[in-house]
Amino acid sequence: MLEISIKENLEQVKARVNSTLSSKGKTIDDIVLIGVTKTLDIDKVNEAISLGITDIGENKVQEIQDKYERIEGNPRLHMIGHLQTNKVKYIIDKVDLIHSLDRESLAAEIQKRAEQSGIVAEVLIQVNVAEEESKFGLRVEEVASFAESLPNYPNIKVKGLMTIAPYEEDPEKTRYVFRKMKELYEEVKSKNHSNFDMEYLSMGMTNDYEIALEEGANMIRVGTGIFGKRNYN
Ligand SMILES: *Cc1c(COP(=O)(O)O)cnc(C)c1O
Repeated sequence: MLEISIKENLEQVKARVNSTLSSKGKTIDDIVLIGVTKTLDIDKVNEAISLGITDIGENKVQEIQDKYERIEGNPRLHMIGHLQTNKVKYIIDKVDLIHSLDRESLAAEIQKRAEQSGIVAEVLIQVNVAEEESKFGLRVEEVASFAESLPNYPNIKVKGLMTIAPYEEDPEKTRYVFRKMKELYEEVKSKNHSNFDMEYLSMGMTNDYEIALEEGANMIRVGTGIFGKRNYN
């Protein structure tokens, strides 16, 4: 098997991010690069951290629980996967940002558990722009009213929006998704809802992060591009 160099991959991703952002007068330091470590063992996670990855993304509660105690250094931890209400309690005091708020019942549970832990949980609202059956998230037209009607929970801070674009061999085909998200982000932000502090637009993965950045992403989630192909066993 070919040995994957996380170091070289990471440098290449950073270079591509910089070159994409240069026309906006920005660099990698102006965005958040999340290294998505799902399915990877803890050694790989820690290797990435030692190479300067500051943000780690996981999509399963169980994996966060398994790895949490053994994570070295002090990276920010992102829950990027679908979150079942009955599992919030296992991660509420472990993760720095939950990317998958998509329903009122989940918000209520996050509020309850965050209050018990004496923290303010930071969350992103997940949007399913392409309305794919297989994906979670609110439809575009539901977001404004969801944001509006979200109770002013004292232990929740909404920090922005997240989406997963459909996979397309030609990522240019998903540009509309990212453009729509940026519009929606600005719209929600302009409302100045009291428990919102809009800062992050989380979109773009290995296949499409350059397009996402061009359209205004400031938080990208890259797994394969840094760590190589995942082995689901
Ligand atoms: C797996 C995953 C990623 C990373 O995907 P890659 O294509 O490997 O970069 C990003 N976001 C979410 C929500 C994921 O589940």
